[in-house]
Amino acid sequence: MSISLCNIFSFAILWFSRILWALSMKLPELPFLRSNDIGIDLGTANTLVYLRGHGIIVNEPSVVALNQKTGRVVAVGNDAKAMIGRTPGHIVAIRPLVDGVISDYEVAEEMLAYFINKANSISKRMARPRVVVGVPSGVTNVQIRAVREAAKTAGAREVHIVEEPMAAAIGVRLPVHEPVGSMIIDVGGGTTDIAVISLGGIVTAQSLRVAGDKLNDDIASYIKDEFKILIGDRTAEHVKIAIGAVEKSEESPESTIRGRDLVSGLPREVVVTEADIREAIGPSVARLVEATKEVLEATPPEILSDVMKRGIVLSGGGALITGFADLLRKELELPIHVAPDPLTCVVRGTGIILEDIDIYKDILIENEQDLPPK
Ligand code: ADP
Ligand code: MG
Repeated sequence: MSISLCNIFSFAILWFSRILWALSMKLPELPFLRSNDIGIDLGTANTLVYLRGHGIIVNEPSVVALNQKTGRVVAVGNDAKAMIGRTPGHIVAIRPLVDGVISDYEVAEEMLAYFINKANSISKRMARPRVVVGVPSGVTNVQIRAVREAAKTAGAREVHIVEEPMAAAIGVRLPVHEPVGSMIIDVGGGTTDIAVISLGGIVTAQSLRVAGDKLNDDIASYIKDEFKILIGDRTAEHVKIAIGAVEKSEESPESTIRGRDLVSGLPREVVVTEADIREAIGPSVARLVEATKEVLEATPPEILSDVMKRGIVLSGGGALITGFADLLRKELELPIHVAPDPLTCVVRGTGIILEDIDIYKDILIENEQDLPPK
């Protein structure tokens, strides 16, 4: 008698726990509890966060300021970028993603957690979010695991990873699933990713470390050689955006910049022209054109004919350099389209993926074997 009571009791407990488990799985799907899922573009220069139901809620530089004495994070994003080159000895401003790879994981994790928490605080939903993270295409399995862990620690229920050129293509609504070749060039801060996509996969691609940061370095070293003054990264970037052009323009603008005289060690001002910047960035721009040609040469003929008809889409901040699209058009004799709002393509792509993750399952890096050997 007591044995059968005991049996009934444990049977009831078993079912009760099963029902609880099933409920907990379904809970996030209930309309009033549904999580506000998050899409993240973990770019080398900028991190953007898309919150479902709200749109893009974070668009800040991928920079973290650390107090080296205490090991604590002092600032993230805009506040941290303002500190670059201006910190006292014990505070360092770090860009955790350099050259398209996560060079400092712990700091990358802290940054990711900071932005996810920011999104969580806006969403105020009970259920834990699903997170789609766009990562530079150069990252390794180990780094993907670190991103996954960081997002989980920050409260993600599920973490899905997508390579940035694919997310950018989805963001500009290229037909990535169809048997049609689409081509995208994403010129970011650390890397330029050139990819030809068809049937949900990358057919041919190149990722090169020639992008916005390299152009800044080119400008700084040109100014050092020609004018004998040293300028910082931020000044180089500023002048690039203000007057940088890959071809001669009608206005031929100029810009006054300040730096340190190499000989006297004192501050000095010089006027640089568009022609100076064009000469400084010329070899890197030529390298980008060359790499695009190489990708086209490696593309199978059927897909190449699609690309010839449909053209190439440019995304990422580097797509905004004046005259770059015209230069590609002239060199390749193909239609070139600059994506609308090129700096947000990747994060918009993660938002589109969030709307229906099942459709994009085959595109996402769900387990480590999915990643091509680097
Ligand atoms: P990432 O995806 O690596 O974070 P982004 O797509 O955010 O990079 O692009 C950042 C790069 O774009 C920076 O190097 C920045 O200097 C450059 N950039 C942004 N706006 C412009 C512009 N108007 N002209 C030229 N370069 C630009
Ligand atoms: Mg990017």
